[in-house]
Amino acid sequence: MDYVSSRDKKLRVSAAQAIAAGIAPGGGLFCPTEFPALTADEMQVLLGKDYKGRAAHILGKFLTDFTAEELSDFAAKAYADEKFGGADTAPVKSLSDGVHMLELWHGPTCAFKDMALQMLPHLLTASLRKTGETRTCCILVATSGDTGKAALEGFANVRGTKIMVYYPVDGVSPMQKLQMVTQQGDNVEVVAIQGNFDDAQSAVKRIFTDDATAKRMADAGCIFSSANSINWGRLAPQIVYYVSAYCDLVNAGALKMGDKMNVCVPTGNFGNILAAYIAKQMGLPVGKLVCASNQNNVLTDFFRQGGVYDRNRPFYTTDSPSMDILISSNLERLLFYVSGQNDALVAKMMAELNETGRYEVPAELRARIAEDFDAGCCDDAETADTIRRTFEREGYLLDTHTAVAVKVYEDYRARTGDMTPVVIASTASPFKFCGPVAAALGKTVDTASVSQLSELSALTGVAAPAPLAALADKTPRFDRVVDKADILSTLDLLL
Ligand SMILES: *Cc1c(COP(=O)(O)O)cnc(C)c1O
Repeated sequence: MDYVSSRDKKLRVSAAQAIAAGIAPGGGLFCPTEFPALTADEMQVLLGKDYKGRAAHILGKFLTDFTAEELSDFAAKAYADEKFGGADTAPVKSLSDGVHMLELWHGPTCAFKDMALQMLPHLLTASLRKTGETRTCCILVATSGDTGKAALEGFANVRGTKIMVYYPVDGVSPMQKLQMVTQQGDNVEVVAIQGNFDDAQSAVKRIFTDDATAKRMADAGCIFSSANSINWGRLAPQIVYYVSAYCDLVNAGALKMGDKMNVCVPTGNFGNILAAYIAKQMGLPVGKLVCASNQNNVLTDFFRQGGVYDRNRPFYTTDSPSMDILISSNLERLLFYVSGQNDALVAKMMAELNETGRYEVPAELRARIAEDFDAGCCDDAETADTIRRTFEREGYLLDTHTAVAVKVYEDYRARTGDMTPVVIASTASPFKFCGPVAAALGKTVDTASVSQLSELSALTGVAAPAPLAALADKTPRFDRVVDKADILSTLDLLL
């Protein structure tokens, strides 16, 4: 299967080339030229497989330049039982009224980023090998919390790679900071940047675009790469869990094969929900895709108010920080497909976004998008209220991101009367956000200490995930804080 740039279809590459490159020259995103069909016979076979087997099968349909043996080996390593607390890699927990929670946070860092970032290092190192690249691959990540730790955990001790994570010194939760500064591995570095997330992010972009730096790194035998969700190698593994959830629901008798399920996803960069859209295009019986946002509701306006994407609006810091984003990069891939792979149109809209912060999609595209998507948003108060109500009614503890999706889906049902069973992506353990989760239940915990985990446990009767509980015994390894102006000097740590 070939991949083309969303902004220039003449740029046509293999899966390995797309993954090794990360982003297409000129800024486009690599997209598969077709969606492989998932047949009824295949679904019957997948029903009998575990998550690793389902992953190897689905990835094989997209990564046609990888062998079945390679992908089975990668899946066995990425989703090893000891990394995901057992064989149930992405379990589905059913609540009342046909609401099913797809728990994507049983990996080593307790957020859904693990589902892709445990797999990406295997796909990336194999892609570098397949494309003849022998230099050391240096992964640079600017993080507001979850991505940095998940990338560290994925790339730690992976041969041929080094990873450097920059986080804003005052911009991550105490739990997220502790997760990062205690990271083990010979090839990892973690640096705090004086400033906020945007400062860290622009500092990293400066490294990527500095010619002298590129030469210095090349002379030292290094190339740069990135681990964010514009890389196809991060998106492809996310398609798997929607297919897997459907299989689990059929096996549990909650769906008959062929029945529709809706999907609702708490959304930031639009990667996770795009993976569900792709699963639908492959033939998975998915009804509506409901895009849930917090107070940063640029996507809600886009889907519900006439197809205008406008990032010129206030930026809010919320209790669901991984969704605090105004430029949802992967929306570009959706526009590419709903426009019939019209690369010129996508390039034009993305240029407008770059220049004015705004673009408008033509009416016929809007109609096509509305067939598949619905959307909604809620604020922190509604999020907290949803955590409390769901805990009281169902005995089920939601994190702040997942609670946004639950609330938006309640609103969707009330507005449309659509009672189709739904899979809601549960993207983080509530124990990553003890402060706001406890506050939603009317309690407080000491967020400056690891004791917040046992405190929230005592309040709720829910056990904290083992990888977070283990942080109490870990010693911080990284304490470097640099001014953003001095970020280039930190690269010496990689050489
Ligand atoms: C990254 C993240 C999201 C947003 O996912 P996108 O793929 O960027 O839309 C939602 N919830 C949590 C907990 C996350 O870490």
